[in-house]
Amino acid sequence: MEIIGIFGGTFNPIHNGHLVLAQTVLDTLHCTQIRVIPAAVPPHKQTPAVTAQHRAAMVQLAIKGHPKLVLDTCELDRQGTSYTIETLHLLRQRFPSQALCLMMGQDSYQKLPTWRRWLELLDYSHLLVVHRADREKTLFLHPEHEGKLVDIAAAPEAFAAQANGLISFLPITPPDISSTRIRERLSRNDETVTSEIPQKVFSYIEQNRLYKTVD
Ligand code: ATP
Repeated sequence: MEIIGIFGGTFNPIHNGHLVLAQTVLDTLHCTQIRVIPAAVPPHKQTPAVTAQHRAAMVQLAIKGHPKLVLDTCELDRQGTSYTIETLHLLRQRFPSQALCLMMGQDSYQKLPTWRRWLELLDYSHLLVVHRADREKTLFLHPEHEGKLVDIAAAPEAFAAQANGLISFLPITPPDISSTRIRERLSRNDETVTSEIPQKVFSYIEQNRLYKTVD
């Protein structure tokens, strides 16, 4: 079965940690494509001062030249909070016979029980979690929750055999980069960020005078 990767985030801005994560998942799972989906109104973060249109434009620039990374603006096209469960519902309709794989860093995974209808995520998709440098190391595991059995720590290779329902951990640690730290440095005109974001994204930020203040 083909595997389609789903990579949601605020991407405020997109950085090289995101790109390493996506490339590693592509190489490991041999996904047909990874859909990179900026959240318009992220449920767990303050609404970013930088518009979703700007954040999506930066994603588009960053993935140019990566034919298997595809910008998906579905969360920009609908009103209200950008809940992942609604996005998965939509993608399942669009891709009825492929395996879907939602990927995330360990920091996101640990907050999963706060996500809207989080247990249902696995009814639509697999879940692939990667380690995140410098974050708490305890992983939240939920083999059985509310009577629902989840297949923990399946080998990622198993993802192609069924359409949804497995959780796996990818033993990689992408570079220790975060959008928060990039925004802080940009607000101080610290150009060392150029080693952590694609050059085209940096140029876009400069041209549009983004991140001049910390928010
Ligand atoms: P912020 O610092 O603003 O919270 P962020 O750097 O965490 O942003 P997001 O766009 O929120 O970026 O991240 C989207 C997804 O990518 C999340 O699941 C997050 O865990 C993961 N991620 C981001 N950066 C890394 C990284 N360096 N290593 C591993 N996972 C990462």
